[in-house]
Amino acid sequence: MQHARRYGYVGPPELRGRMAGVDAVAVETAAALARWLAERDRGELVEPFTFVVALDGGLRLASRRSEHVVLVGGHDVLAAGEIAFALAGSGWHVVEVTNQSTGYCPDPDCWPAVGEALDRIGVRHPDDFTDKVTFRRCPACGERNVVRDDDFTCAQCDSALPAQWNFAPN
Ligand SMILES: [Zn+2]
Repeated sequence: MQHARRYGYVGPPELRGRMAGVDAVAVETAAALARWLAERDRGELVEPFTFVVALDGGLRLASRRSEHVVLVGGHDVLAAGEIAFALAGSGWHVVEVTNQSTGYCPDPDCWPAVGEALDRIGVRHPDDFTDKVTFRRCPACGERNVVRDDDFTCAQCDSALPAQWNFAPN
């Protein structure tokens, strides 16, 4: 894979160690995905799920209440976000997929890892994120920001945020 960027966990440290009780699954086949989705209740299916693409390129899913970091035991990921599926004639397909993860704050550039993970499973999906979230760390105060309406200003301290994604480990 040519997209070598790994995303390290940047969220609150107390969540990193929290592993117990998460109903997460590593999805390797379309049949496994269908099985896991069939076990969700109706209320869960109307909301997107939490997903990560682990360093092995595999897709892992959990209910939306789950923090991304617990899906991979605190490890780095290739991508993270939220994903929603719908049942069509031929099976489940992806209707919504975003890079919404405040735990990893991934750049929308992580899409290829998501597309490849879904291709590997054999589930139909959009060609890119259906919604892209722009994350920036404030160079002045360290706050994790979501940039909205092209306003590159820190919500915490009003400092200017950089044009480029800047959560890379130093
Ligand atoms: Zn700031």
